[in-house]
Amino acid sequence: MKKIGVLTSGGDAPGMNAAIRATVRKAIYHEMEVIGVKNGYQGLMDGNFEEMHLGSVGDIIHRGGTILFSARSEKFKTDEGQLRAVEQMKKAGIEGLIVIGGDGSFKGAQKLTEKGVPCIGVPGTIDNDIAGTDFTIGFDTSLNTIIDAVDKVRDTATSHERTYVIEVMGRDAGDLALWAGLSVGAESILIPEQKDEFSQIVDRLNRGHKRGKKHSIILLAEGVGSGFDVGKKIEEATDLETRVTVLGHIQRGGSPTGQDRVLASRLGAAAVELLLNNKGGRMVGIRNNQIVDNDINDILKMKHHINNEMFQLSKELSI
Ligand code: ATP
Repeated sequence: MKKIGVLTSGGDAPGMNAAIRATVRKAIYHEMEVIGVKNGYQGLMDGNFEEMHLGSVGDIIHRGGTILFSARSEKFKTDEGQLRAVEQMKKAGIEGLIVIGGDGSFKGAQKLTEKGVPCIGVPGTIDNDIAGTDFTIGFDTSLNTIIDAVDKVRDTATSHERTYVIEVMGRDAGDLALWAGLSVGAESILIPEQKDEFSQIVDRLNRGHKRGKKHSIILLAEGVGSGFDVGKKIEEATDLETRVTVLGHIQRGGSPTGQDRVLASRLGAAAVELLLNNKGGRMVGIRNNQIVDNDINDILKMKHHINNEMFQLSKELSI
């Protein structure tokens, strides 16, 4: 392969730029040309291409977001849209494509591979909700943003002796809430995969209050429901003054952590290696600190699971 493309798709995640940088530099190292595709699959259909050089990815390893921009496109889900994308790539001489994104983006990558352009998926999403990898790019940064925010909320929670419900991202996956909850010593962690009885949450809060706790923190993944509803129910069921904080999009931004920069660099480079070997329809990932790759079709059929041992531990530590 002599010329490849790279795009970012779906929700942006800190570390996507480090992954773009790694793909561009690794490809140039192997004397390949690289085309940056702007605005995800929408840009692929529109031929929104830019030649990438060593300097195009200078000064971006520490930046959040994505210099290639991201977009969601309904049109690309159709056969017609995908054929238009293949045509654009043929016209530009792009022989393989690296897709940095989440599982929706990988479905698109699989379709393009079936239509003759080998694609490699690089997992970039803060939710850590993709099978076939221990971590996705962006998860660690987002986790640390949440920890920082909760530590700050805790200061005011203690001063006013309040209970705080903190709603974090995670529609189907509770990793952010679980890891953050364990990191901040939350009283309860509410995630889509493991639903506690509401009475257990109330019991834990009351027990803590009785032994003189000055504040309580509850971590809630958005997929479980609204933080405001949970906060209201707690106030109704206890005497505790309760406040709700929805962290929202600050969880998506910021400079990537060392973990995310290293992960993004390793995964981006591994994706180029696969294309160099004429492989397509694969997703790169990390398992026990080793870079692995798997068939995208298999990955899409599998579900990411939370670490049950961690969930159990969080309960044992918040008795
Ligand atoms: P995130 O996890 O951050 O939401 P994602 O990659 O899962 O990221 P999606 O919005 O699901 O985000 O997908 C991104 C884009 O991938 C879609 O806008 C669409 O263009 C393409 N895509 C999604 N599903 C399919 C599909 N079944 N076939 C072809 N393309 C798809």
